[in-house]
Amino acid sequence: MSYQNNLTYAQQLDKEDKLSYLREQFHIPKDDNGNPWLYFTGNSLGLQPKQTQKYIQQELNDWARLGVEGHFEAKNPWLSYHEFLAENMANIVGAKPIEVVVMNTLTTNLHLLMVSFYQPTKKKYKIVIESDAFPSDRYAVESQLNFHGFDAKEGLIEWKPRAGEELLNIEDLETIVSEQGDEIALLLIGGVNYYTGQYLNLKRIAEIGHAKDCFVGIDLAHGAGNICPDLHNSGVDFAAWCTYKYLNSGPGSLAGLFVHEKHAKNKDLPRFAGWWNHNKETRFNMRMPFDVMSGAEGWQLSNPPILSMAAIRASLDMFAEVGMEALREKSEILTGYFEYLINEIGSEDIKIITPSNPKERGCQLSIQVKNADKSLHQKLTEKHIITDWREPDVIRCAPTPMYNSFEDVYRMVSILKDLL
Ligand SMILES: *Cc1c(COP(=O)(O)O)cnc(C)c1O
Repeated sequence: MSYQNNLTYAQQLDKEDKLSYLREQFHIPKDDNGNPWLYFTGNSLGLQPKQTQKYIQQELNDWARLGVEGHFEAKNPWLSYHEFLAENMANIVGAKPIEVVVMNTLTTNLHLLMVSFYQPTKKKYKIVIESDAFPSDRYAVESQLNFHGFDAKEGLIEWKPRAGEELLNIEDLETIVSEQGDEIALLLIGGVNYYTGQYLNLKRIAEIGHAKDCFVGIDLAHGAGNICPDLHNSGVDFAAWCTYKYLNSGPGSLAGLFVHEKHAKNKDLPRFAGWWNHNKETRFNMRMPFDVMSGAEGWQLSNPPILSMAAIRASLDMFAEVGMEALREKSEILTGYFEYLINEIGSEDIKIITPSNPKERGCQLSIQVKNADKSLHQKLTEKHIITDWREPDVIRCAPTPMYNSFEDVYRMVSILKDLL
């Protein structure tokens, strides 16, 4: 696309945008004069859909009206509430409904999945992660190594960018796995890297891992609701993601979990058990021996928090109405415009480290500002431009197709330019 660097053009793009009506359906935080903030942290905590309150209120009302009977008698019976989410969530990540469940939180799900898919032996026990993995993922795999009696330093293999580069190169993963695959049990990779915004080729990662009999898991925290990961066809064994980032489901909301259909009926996989992954036909009999459910539901443990699920449902209903494809289409143009404007600043000190190929990124751009420090981020925040700062010198900005406008992007870059 050939973009133009002026406000009228940005406003014209908003007029032509078929999804611009969605912005109205969100609460956009405002300054004291009633002007909306320029909110670019949908990659950290997505904004609140206006309908969320109604969905949660429904469950509060039914709880007030019915007490425990709400499990069966509520308008949306709580007993099977998670089933309202499965299909829409599956569509978002490109999975079959049997492969997806909403439960717990992201790091918890990663651990539960590693109970099943990290089965180290004396010889084959190492775990590969990206060198710039999100800290929680790193701590999780280190603790798994320790828990199984291995030295985390020695058991952890980092897939690093080449010297002087920021992005990962899939050939380097191939080299690691072809050389050390006999010792590697698991690849656990962020599908979209939280720091650089790089979207990796999940299918290639799965092929590389499986060629050496390693399990392959993907953290989709920065992918779900952002890119179309086509999880089922990618062939990865498992994945997990939170719902409070691009999925706009509220702070600390429940997480998603994917287990590929090929493992759906494998009752021999080691796993932890609770009453919620026991056969739901006999669950309330209370005296039956454990009988694990098929599919992703077979990783649940507890009866889930309905109020959080109601918020997720409110958001997923919006995603279902719009569809990931339409969102992706807008997202590529919106982030493309953002990239164009940043490049128009024409400063040697500014470098976008996110891939320039739209197929290798989601909506986020990570902008490195040489010689900048956190005061730049503070100045942006004072002007109600909400971005995320990563030491030493990177601003992460995520214009989301659900509620960010082309005008947001234009205004943000003009203010950034002035501050520089
Ligand atoms: C946001 C994020 C997390 C956060 O984990 P929680 O268990 O939800 O607190 C973990 N990993 C990645 C890659 C993330 O982006």
